[in-house]
Amino acid sequence: MFGLMQSQPLLISSLLVHAERHHPEQEIVSRRVEGDIHRCTYRDLASRSRRMARALQALNIKPSDRVATLAWNGYRHMELYFAVSGIGSVLHTVNPRLHPDQVVWIADHAEDQVLFFDLTFLPLIAAVAPRTKTVKHWVAMTDRAHLPESAASIPNLLVYEDLIAGQPDDTFEWPTFDEQSASSLCYTSGTTGNPKGVLYSHRSTLLHTMAAALPDALNCSARDVILPVVPMFHVNAWGLPYVACMTGAKMVFPGGALDGKSLYELFESEKVTLSAGVPTVWQALLGHTAANNLKFSTMRRTVIGGSACPPAMIRTFKEQYDVDVIHAWGMTEMSPLGTASTFKTRHLGMTQEERYEVMNRQGRAIFGVDMKVVDEDGREIPFGTDKSGDLLVRGPWILRQYFKGEGGDVLRDGWFPTGDVAKIDAEGYMLITDRTKDVIKSGGEWIGSIDLENIAMAHPAVAMAACIAAKHPKWDERPLLVVVKKPGAEVTREELIAFYDGKIAKWWTPDDVVFVEAIPLGATGKMQKNKLREQFKDYQLPTA
Ligand code: ADP
Repeated sequence: MFGLMQSQPLLISSLLVHAERHHPEQEIVSRRVEGDIHRCTYRDLASRSRRMARALQALNIKPSDRVATLAWNGYRHMELYFAVSGIGSVLHTVNPRLHPDQVVWIADHAEDQVLFFDLTFLPLIAAVAPRTKTVKHWVAMTDRAHLPESAASIPNLLVYEDLIAGQPDDTFEWPTFDEQSASSLCYTSGTTGNPKGVLYSHRSTLLHTMAAALPDALNCSARDVILPVVPMFHVNAWGLPYVACMTGAKMVFPGGALDGKSLYELFESEKVTLSAGVPTVWQALLGHTAANNLKFSTMRRTVIGGSACPPAMIRTFKEQYDVDVIHAWGMTEMSPLGTASTFKTRHLGMTQEERYEVMNRQGRAIFGVDMKVVDEDGREIPFGTDKSGDLLVRGPWILRQYFKGEGGDVLRDGWFPTGDVAKIDAEGYMLITDRTKDVIKSGGEWIGSIDLENIAMAHPAVAMAACIAAKHPKWDERPLLVVVKKPGAEVTREELIAFYDGKIAKWWTPDDVVFVEAIPLGATGKMQKNKLREQFKDYQLPTA
């Protein structure tokens, strides 16, 4: 038909082209592994990404070849986001907190051709380099002056800054190709079985970026200064490097210094307005600010997701720091964003207490994500029914099948089963009550462990709490609360159990409490309840 719109593929390189043209002077600030603070602009990012793209082509990297990174959040990592995907090859971000055996397994499975690494991970690279099957080049993300002697043991070692310096930046144009081409690859942490790869496309990434930046999602603009604490190896830092380019926001990268003090310094010195991370990260940061009586002078909102944000944390951020928490939910298989808890007009007239009720939920679906909750028979539970069930999703940035078809057909009638148990209220606000595998089944009824953890987390002496199923002779399973106390704080089992009075149905109250030094955290900073279940598999609950 005459008179249609232009047909342009949605490509990741277009984000960089836009940022360079419209925000060339905007800054990207990184705390480097080398120890200093590095500053550059979107103009530099674009130029260096082009040169790195050429260097990759000179190494004979072809479209759809996988190029891996083992790196912190930093400007070089961001350059690779664009250089690698921009030439049609696939950026595979590997989680450096994985065991060396898992890194080898993942690199082999992905058939990585080149692996870029931060110097922090040199010992890990030394351990895995002789064992991987497909990696032809190992690139240290530094310059020659900072290369330690020990790096000489790595075979086929290249230096990042040499690769860039070896290429001109004159006539390079980003290639145009099908928007359905693969752009990046991220493996799920695989709490059960081997990790599975989730393969994003240019199209899925661009659509996700547009939706993520919207006011009722992450609400990003050219006036923002974004510090993603969430790692770039964890679902592309929830899309923030792409969102920053699209909006022209200033970007601040913390590198490997993720302790409360280092993060706080960067928040203040760079005037960060927006941050994002999992609850355990904020736990550490708030511990530092509380102990030193510090406030945030510019940060006004932070996105918290990856696991349920305890309501007590949302309240602390608001009342003590004037920071609004955007509680968000998603998963690797969803690029990752699915919902964000932001207000509708009618909430604006509510009291703060009523607003907390909204903020505590994981939120409304952002456009592009269709979600529903189904019962045991697969029938949809209508919005507004106070009943939880399996949460299913579909949309253009949601997985159809895992990389290489691992796990077979995962969709149910076109919907992806998230493995989460949730309910959705009449206005579409979703609340995760549990993960299917963490649910506690007591006498045939389900008890949601997140609720129980959230209550414990509101107790002033509790630093971290996990609630797991313990075997029970009569009820099959009963809740066991595992608690890490705050340093110097005291609380007894009886006091904690009494703390549940009136806050929850009596039969949901944990049967027992155990105090531990630490709760195991996974590679993305989440509590590993499967490890706890293993640890307490023979635990004898008191029989009343
Ligand atoms: P995994 O931890 O399985 O490797 P992801 O990092 O993709 O993978 O985590 C996705 C899961 O994390 C979700 O299915 C959900 O169980 C949990 N999750 C993410 N955000 C939230 C949230 N805001 N509240 C509760 N659970 C969450």
